[in-house]
Amino acid sequence: MDAIRFNNFSCYYKIKKQIITAINSITLQIDQGEFIALIGESGSGKSTFIKACLGLADYFDGELFVDGVPVDKIDAKKGNFALVHQDFRLYPRMTCFENIAFPLRVIHTHNDEVERRVYEIAKLLGIELFLARYPKQLSLGQQQRVAIARAVIKNPRFIFFDEPFANIDPLKSVELRLLVKQIHKKYRPTIVFSTHDIAEAFSVADKVVVLERGKIVETGNLEQLRQKHQSQLLKAYFQQ
Ligand code: ADP
Ligand code: MG
Repeated sequence: MDAIRFNNFSCYYKIKKQIITAINSITLQIDQGEFIALIGESGSGKSTFIKACLGLADYFDGELFVDGVPVDKIDAKKGNFALVHQDFRLYPRMTCFENIAFPLRVIHTHNDEVERRVYEIAKLLGIELFLARYPKQLSLGQQQRVAIARAVIKNPRFIFFDEPFANIDPLKSVELRLLVKQIHKKYRPTIVFSTHDIAEAFSVADKVVVLERGKIVETGNLEQLRQKHQSQLLKAYFQQ
């Protein structure tokens, strides 16, 4: 079974009488355990793509199945999903430990197990020394590590990253990319990672999907797209 399957899927927003097509008739299969990057300019539909996979599309037509569940039945709370936002969205009044532990607290995990899992993931992400601090006492890069740890703690089958490093110093984001790759190698979730940084997309993902005004204009890995590409975005990138 495909992890994610879009079949002529479109997604819309309605503002008063105006209809905005954010995703325009896309067809795409993502395999279990695959790591794909979505690239596209601002407004190309990256966040809407991710929202739809989380069952948060307001208006749509066509088909989308995530883990075999049709789009109108997807329940992000029940599904085995995690989402990492551009702006971290940590809980400011909780320590980093409690932020990371939160998804396990919700499902009433035993305290010893919570401690074991939080330390394991904090170590992997290099934040074990910051666990007693509050988010505002950390740098942006460290905060994003905490947000990633919180996303990974339940070992979700799907992790969606929506421009996760857009607010982070590019030098730091290189380290974070490596961590995301390590997480993928260790836990093998299906990952959808949106970015407007083409180099970042090729460095993290097995496959890149290029979105332009809600349409998929091309897909492939670095070698395939280096040899054959047609979008303005990739033409400019490979001509550099
Ligand atoms: P990206 O994440 O690539 O910047 P989005 O998915 O946010 O793109 O947006 C795709 C299109 O949908 C854009 O034209 C955007 O203006 C529109 N859009 C996004 N969110 C909303 C919303 N809540 N209401 C109306 N239009 C929206
Ligand atoms: Mg977006």
